[in-house]
Parts: sequence; C-alpha cells; structure tokens
Amino acid sequence: MAQQDTDQQHTDGVLPVDDEGFVIDTEDGEAREKAYRERGTSRPITVVGNPVLHKECRDVTEFDDELAKLVDDMFASQHTAEGVGLAANQIGVDLKVFVYDCPDDDGARHTGVICNPVLRELPTEQRRLDDSNEGCLSVPTAYAELARPDYAVVDGRDEKGNAITVRGTGYFARCLQHETDHLYGYLYIDRLSKRERKDALKQMEEGTPRYPVVPND
Ligand SMILES: [Zn+2]
Repeated sequence: MAQQDTDQQHTDGVLPVDDEGFVIDTEDGEAREKAYRERGTSRPITVVGNPVLHKECRDVTEFDDELAKLVDDMFASQHTAEGVGLAANQIGVDLKVFVYDCPDDDGARHTGVICNPVLRELPTEQRRLDDSNEGCLSVPTAYAELARPDYAVVDGRDEKGNAITVRGTGYFARCLQHETDHLYGYLYIDRLSKRERKDALKQMEEGTPRYPVVPND
C-alpha cells in the first residue's frame, strides 16, 4: 500500500561522514528522531531478570524493511520512556541494534542507529575516567555512579548495512558504551560492586517506572 512512501522515508537513515570518517549524527536530530518515532509503535521495556537482557544478541544480517520497522519502534519506545539510548533487547528483540538521541557534554545532540556495534579499544592517553551517575530504562528508577572512559568510538553498520563509525565524548560516550554492553548481555549494574548492585536493585524495587514495562515471570 504505502510501501513506496515508507521506503522513501527510510533512506533518511544514511548519515553524512566527516573528514576523519566519523558519522555526523548531530544534524537535524530533532526532525530525524520525530520521523522515526512517528512511524513506530511504542513497546514496553524489558527489565533486569528478563533472559533477553542477559545474553549476547544475534548479529543483524538482513538490513530490510523489518529492521527499519524495528528501528522505528525503538525510537517510539525510547521517546515514551524518555530515554537517551535504547537497545533492541530492551523491547524484547534479540538483535544487535541500538538507537540513541543523546546530548554530549558540549550540548550537541546526537541521534542515530547502530547495528552490530563493536567498541574500539582506545589507548589510555585518549581517554579519562569519568564517574558520573548512570541509569538504565531496564533498571527503572535506580541510579549509581559508574566510572567509564569519557571518549568512545564504536564501529558498526547503519540500518541500511553501510559500515559506520560513531564517536562520542562525555555523556554520549557513556551512552555508546552502555548500549553496546546491552547487546552483549550486560547491564550497567553488572559493572558495579556487589553492594552497589544490591543498592540499585533496591532502588528499583522501591520505585515505580514512569513507562510501561514487561513483567518478569
Ligand atoms: Zn540501559
């Protein structure tokens, strides 16, 4: 029916690249995010304990309409939950894809999609540890300090299958690491000490999520 139009819109997903080969994900973020989410349907968020969050997801091999639909739903779900990043397994889909709509520490808004992300190992002189607070839609209402490098580079594919490299600083670097972790079956609380993890789970038990979640059995 409206297939033609849909295909047309989905070509929006291909982003320009800068001189150093990094994707430029800071242009038209508001319009791109809106286009994705308005095509999508918001789905409830899986929470810690759901098996889909605790194992490595499958690589994306088909960069087709089904993937485009998933990406749309992920942007819609991210918006409903007021998140800055969302991994596919957070809406119950076992595929290596994450979306983001996240500011960095310089106030630039980064918006995009990464499939099959691999975090680059960077020399220590290229990054400092930053111990800001971190939270996760899959651990609703909990926050904890977690030291992470303040610069990150991720190699992967866009939703059309083109090779892309995304880099981030500050809060956005944290987001890139957090979302990549999700797709390999790790939550940020898995990086905390036993005591801090317990405290985060207690915060979650005591809080009420402000968005729909998938109940665990
Ligand atoms: Zn998360």
